[in-house]
Amino acid sequence: MTSHAREGMFPISEIPNLDLKKAGFEIEKDEIYNPENTSLLDAIVKVNGCTGSFVSSQGLILTNHHCAYGAIRRASTPEHDYLADGFYALTRDKEIPAPGFRVRITRSYEDVSDRILSAIKESMSWGERSEVIKKQINIIETQAEKKHPGWRAEVSEMFSGKTYLLFMYEMLNDVRLVYAPPRSVGEFGGEIDNWMWPRHTGDFSFMRVYVAPDGSPAEYDPENVPYEPKRFARISSQGVQQEDLVFLLGYPGRTYRHRTSSFVAYEQELRMPAVAELYDWQIDLMDSLSMESRELALKHASRIKGRANTMKNYRGKLLGLERLDLVEKKRAEEKLLKAFIASDPQWQEDQDLLEKIEAIYNEKQDYFQFDFILSYLPRSSTLFSIARTLHTAAQERQKPDDERKSAYTDRRYNETIDNLVLRLKTVHLPTEKAFLKHILTQATDLPDSLRPKRLNTFIHSPHPKQQLHALVDSLLEHTELHQESKVREWSALPPTAFKSSRDAMIDFYVDLYPLYEKLEKIENAHSGALDAYHAQLLDVQMAYQDQRFIPDANGTLRLTYGHIRSYSPRDAVHYHPISTLQGIMEKTTGLEPFDTPSRLLDLIDIADYGRFEHKALNSVPVCILYDTDTTGGNSGSPVFNARGELVGLNFDRAFEATINDYAWSADYSRSIGVDVRYILWFMQSYSHAHRLLQEMEIPGGS
Ligand code: ASP
Repeated sequence: MTSHAREGMFPISEIPNLDLKKAGFEIEKDEIYNPENTSLLDAIVKVNGCTGSFVSSQGLILTNHHCAYGAIRRASTPEHDYLADGFYALTRDKEIPAPGFRVRITRSYEDVSDRILSAIKESMSWGERSEVIKKQINIIETQAEKKHPGWRAEVSEMFSGKTYLLFMYEMLNDVRLVYAPPRSVGEFGGEIDNWMWPRHTGDFSFMRVYVAPDGSPAEYDPENVPYEPKRFARISSQGVQQEDLVFLLGYPGRTYRHRTSSFVAYEQELRMPAVAELYDWQIDLMDSLSMESRELALKHASRIKGRANTMKNYRGKLLGLERLDLVEKKRAEEKLLKAFIASDPQWQEDQDLLEKIEAIYNEKQDYFQFDFILSYLPRSSTLFSIARTLHTAAQERQKPDDERKSAYTDRRYNETIDNLVLRLKTVHLPTEKAFLKHILTQATDLPDSLRPKRLNTFIHSPHPKQQLHALVDSLLEHTELHQESKVREWSALPPTAFKSSRDAMIDFYVDLYPLYEKLEKIENAHSGALDAYHAQLLDVQMAYQDQRFIPDANGTLRLTYGHIRSYSPRDAVHYHPISTLQGIMEKTTGLEPFDTPSRLLDLIDIADYGRFEHKALNSVPVCILYDTDTTGGNSGSPVFNARGELVGLNFDRAFEATINDYAWSADYSRSIGVDVRYILWFMQSYSHAHRLLQEMEIPGGS
């Protein structure tokens, strides 16, 4: 019997309402989530933007290779190229600190909607409402953190303008790299295979969190000891079969399923194509610069990977949106909703709700180019972005602590500045120059009132292009922001210092600041109005569909379940849901990204699969495909079987499933994970990583 797949990234607050027994779970709900006791949730962590899980009593975390990528890259040099060759710490003292990596564990949640929404007054403008919500959130977070020193409080909007939950997270900041396979395994197939099935990528790595000897969270210190989690995930090397039930726990980033047709049209027609085009150009340039030396390649590696990932994801979404004709589909649904509204006097006030939302997106369209350039300037130049953060810091830090944006509050400020300093390591001036010239050239097309003032001085001159290039060259030649000491110095200076600055980049930002202020005002007005309209819309939709709604993904902990399941992306094509070592052989060409290490090919050839063999397939399974509901941020999520044992590691989705962010489809929504048997077989046979296998209590792991 095939059980039906279902949409749903269920927040932990929804778990008690689910009938998991009926869905095929063999464990009780409270083994997954139990606010009174430890449960599987205590084994799930957020690792920067990804998910991970504890797999030993000694703070060992399993996550993706692409999630630990920044740490592997930072630890690599042309002489010790862990990115290329892989890394295995033979003993604990060889584990490498991963600065900038932070691990969090969800400890509790509480509904704070009333505390936030009661501060809104009828008389307030949309912009004021938006400001008040931010301020209330800040106050709630600050108070909560005072009560729980060392924990992080974060309010997450579950339903726009309607429901807000306060999450408390235990934060662990001493994170170290323990194990990574070579790139040719961890990234096998590279961008060609990315977002695709069938897949043969060993996208896994191990990290470990450490705490002070007394067990309290601490920054890196050689005296620190491994963290002992309340719970760790048990691994099953029994594996999975087609149609087995699986479930995932993780931190999906963002979905937009409750948004209207006007939002999707805006994304499809404007935002995604513009970003994809910019990234395409930037990647090409970084690729060519990377040919110059391994050092430069390492400098650019994370940015290339991140942007290529986004670009291909957007291309997949654009294709999917077209194929599904989602805008038209949503418009048709909205027509029915309007008829429902009109049929009942109770919804009198909501007659033109959809038109009001559409009007905001029309306005957003008018400002698109302005918004895009100001938003992507900091993403194009690290030094510009640093100037911007420092300037914002100076202003925010003049305000009382609970009125500041959260990155500039006393509790977060050191972390904010440390993160800035970390970014300096990847600054490469020729890349900065080229990127800035490219995006500022686009800014020359803006109307006079929205164009950066500096450009206005030469825009009508006979040689605007040369002048623009000279301006950018001079910005980068007369800035000291690439020096850590200068960044730290500026981080303590008041706003007056910025006004009289002699640093060209700071100066440039100060000039642009009025434009950023203008953009923020526009955005606040839009988001204030949209929050209120979306809240109203949700009430109508709930009445219309008479069902419980699941909030869009927002980076908070979620459960999703489904089955190991095949799919058919196109006519006459049917994909089996389990790939094997034989596929690695088939794909290997010897050329990147299909350049499997020859020792691995030999091992596959010998066919010594031991207890990791999938008998029916007569091989070790490499990747698995399943119809759970996931998105970006679910990378690194453990995949559990019905008994709650870890059988896989989520890392991607099929191309057609990139559309998940806007709509979920039982036919196309497929997620991809590494089968844990490949991870174990590889660690045992290729890396001889016995220390870790033993630590994870894998039978025969010694
Ligand atoms: N590969 C994705 C990520 O980077 C996972 C996904 O989006 O499904 O988070």
